[in-house]
Amino acid sequence: MTQLTDLKSRGHSLTKARKALVELLDVSQKPLSAMDLVAVLFERGLKVNKTTVYRELKFLVEQGLICEIDLGEGNKRYEAVPTSHHHHIVCQQCNAVTCLDMEDELHLMEQQITDRTGFVIAGHDLKFFGLCPTCVVLAAETTA
Ligand SMILES: [Zn+2]
Ligand SMILES: [Zn+2]
Ligand SMILES: [Zn+2]
Repeated sequence: MTQLTDLKSRGHSLTKARKALVELLDVSQKPLSAMDLVAVLFERGLKVNKTTVYRELKFLVEQGLICEIDLGEGNKRYEAVPTSHHHHIVCQQCNAVTCLDMEDELHLMEQQITDRTGFVIAGHDLKFFGLCPTCVVLAAETTA
């Protein structure tokens, strides 16, 4: 896994924004959007403009320090490079995202797909969607 210190040895500077973004994603329990990150940085008194955040995120993805994920919301989310392969569940109402740290059986399916199609499979992408617990409660209240 690439570390912040590796950036220095590759000749890149460790700017405040760069460091803060990696650290924020490291402790976050869920993937965050660029807008989320701008808001958190702002709360912490780090005034970094949106353009810089987008540029830094792109750079950090290229350097392998963070991952970019597309949950089909129109904007991308970012998370620390996962220690294990996992999927996400997204709330269709409020866009809350949860990482699903559980084993999946899809590697078995991958083998079957290879057998059937001859494709060498590099990976898969799977998104679950539905209503989060908060939105389930809200939905029950509005229909009651
Ligand atoms: Zn929700
Ligand atoms: Zn995740
Ligand atoms: Zn999987």
